[in-house]
Amino acid sequence: MQKHICHDCKTEIGKGGKFMPYEAAGASFVKCESCHTADPILRNFQEAEVYSRIVGYIRPIKQWNKAKRQEFQDRLTFASTMACDC
Ligand SMILES: [Zn+2]
Repeated sequence: MQKHICHDCKTEIGKGGKFMPYEAAGASFVKCESCHTADPILRNFQEAEVYSRIVGYIRPIKQWNKAKRQEFQDRLTFASTMACDC
C-alpha cells in the first residue's frame, strides 16, 4: 500500500483514513479529511522561482553557482523606517 502524506499538515494518513487526491502540475498530492474540510483548494504546490540581483544582473537564484546561493542565504533583510524626502 502506498504511503500518503497530507500536503497541508504533513501527517501520514493511516490505513483506512480518508483523504482527497489532487493532480496538479504533473504531480499527485493528497489532503487528509480535516485539512480538506478546512480548505478544499490545493495551495502552494508549485515551486516559486526567486529572482535576485547578482553582480549587477537580476537572475533566477536557481541558476546561480553554489557559493552565490549560499551568499544569498546568508543575506540579511532590513526594513527601512526612514521616509524619503525626494
Ligand atoms: Zn492534513
